[in-house]
Amino acid sequence: MTDFDALLREVRRCTICADHLPAGPRPVVQMDPRARILIAGQAPGRRVHESGVPFDDPSGDRLRDWLGLERDEFYDPSLVAILPMGFCYPGTGKSGDRPPRPECAPAWRERLLGVLDGVRLTLVLGRWALAYHLPDYQTLTEAVEDWERHWPEVLPLPHPSPRNRAWFKRNAWFETDVLPSLRRRVHELVEDGRAIDRPPTSPSG
Ligand code: SF4
Repeated sequence: MTDFDALLREVRRCTICADHLPAGPRPVVQMDPRARILIAGQAPGRRVHESGVPFDDPSGDRLRDWLGLERDEFYDPSLVAILPMGFCYPGTGKSGDRPPRPECAPAWRERLLGVLDGVRLTLVLGRWALAYHLPDYQTLTEAVEDWERHWPEVLPLPHPSPRNRAWFKRNAWFETDVLPSLRRRVHELVEDGRAIDRPPTSPSG
């Protein structure tokens, strides 16, 4: 077993904040050291907790559309790593899902990010990931408006949840200005990864 496999196994067995998780621990992460794209999200919702498949919901459909990725590409860990700020479903409060458990990032994040040295684009999704990955910004809108500052290595994005419909409507420039560049970059990284995976052709003649 490689060090990476051992680390992932450790994560999957984690129970650090089990006492605070109404549905119990079930870390939902997707990763492989070869991943080119990292999605830094919030925390799984109930549906994802049940299926164990990240972004297997309307938020995921919207996110795949933003990226221009088919499901099989999105769920290929050698292309896309998915590490939310909290790996387990934190339960639901009065106004929707609770925030990611605060124990999770200090326990795991740096160790896992340290393994992902092939990542060329980090997508920072929603305010909890923003506070960790791009802490200079006060609000998500401020960060997304300033998206070219960290491009093409890091891109802050609004959470693709249908609950954010009002934000998408208020900020139509996001679709016209940001998404075409994002799709182009993702396409390049997919092609780049395929070229690396392809065995070199032997000289003919
Ligand atoms: S949320 Fe994170 S720290 Fe808490 S049990 Fe799950 S993996 Fe462990």
